[in-house]
Amino acid sequence: MTEKIIDLRSDTVTKPSAAMRRAMAEADVGDDVFMEDPTVNRLQRRAAEIFGRQAGLFVPSGSMGNLVCIMAQTQPGQEVICDAAGHIYSYEMAAMSALAGVLPRVVNTANGIMPWEQISRAIRPRAYYRAQTALVSLENTHNMAGGTVYPTRLAHSICDHAHDAGLKVHLDGARIFNAAVHLGQDVVEITRKFDSVQFCLSKGLGAPVGSMIVGSSALIDRCRSIRKMLGGGMRQAGVIAAAGLLALENGPARLHVDHENARVLADGLAGIAGIRVDPATVQTNIVIYDIRETKLKSSQFLEKICRRNVLGVALDAERVRMVTHLDVDRSDVENAIGAIDEVLRLGA
Ligand SMILES: *Cc1c(COP(=O)(O)O)cnc(C)c1O
Repeated sequence: MTEKIIDLRSDTVTKPSAAMRRAMAEADVGDDVFMEDPTVNRLQRRAAEIFGRQAGLFVPSGSMGNLVCIMAQTQPGQEVICDAAGHIYSYEMAAMSALAGVLPRVVNTANGIMPWEQISRAIRPRAYYRAQTALVSLENTHNMAGGTVYPTRLAHSICDHAHDAGLKVHLDGARIFNAAVHLGQDVVEITRKFDSVQFCLSKGLGAPVGSMIVGSSALIDRCRSIRKMLGGGMRQAGVIAAAGLLALENGPARLHVDHENARVLADGLAGIAGIRVDPATVQTNIVIYDIRETKLKSSQFLEKICRRNVLGVALDAERVRMVTHLDVDRSDVENAIGAIDEVLRLGA
């Protein structure tokens, strides 16, 4: 057992590195509502460049990024097609209904991946007396399905079909760089057909705060106004953008380590009696496993492993999620597996 707390609850728990803290302290700043913060401007230009888009916008959170993109591309009374386990539907405070005034039209999937046939059945008929579908939103990687990745050809064909049907397509790409690493493809290639893309700096990339939106200049101009309306206009935001820049430049290159560690974790868990997980389904940095056969509820299980300094989250009474990230290394993962094994074998 280690003294270190092995925090596998989420890749959001990563703390800024010494280099990030230095860059934050030394950041050139200005008033970003006047669009005069040089560091924010640099971050936005770099994000746009990396994604091959005209413009980027720094937002305080992924939730705000998704909401801003929805509001920019819908009108109240319209519908957004998304999957039932998706973050925008299940984990964003019903913001699209409460604030954008749109109705989520959900599709159930086994693995977070929506085939076009399913999406097309959810499109409302063109009739003046029916709410109209405006937007389709995909999530890549898919958080609650266990970090699953959209095959690029499928994502492209969904965008093509949706555009033919007159719909916009948003990508909740909170962990898009994890998808890129898994696919061995550039983010430009895997996101180029989406009208709007949101990705998080504050997860596996390691920044303390913030997300980015990228898209056309016209879209980003609209998004900037909506961000202000929602109270997301920040002033000397260069102090956090400085960390975001380092995350964006240096974060993607080490995500493969998180993926290897997630596979080691899944392999280790698969060998423990009472735990069910198929390591072959682990594509990125998220491992979801079933503990039903231990006869423990997730909350009881988590309490026991917490006493051994290992943290995870409960998805429901029988399923636990663990996420690898830059603040846990291979030996932490091995220690976590050892602690879980001991808890289940010794019952303590
Ligand atoms: C984390 C996450 C977000 C955004 O979360 P915030 O906490 O608002 O930054 C959006 N979508 C997915 C899939 C996520 O995992």
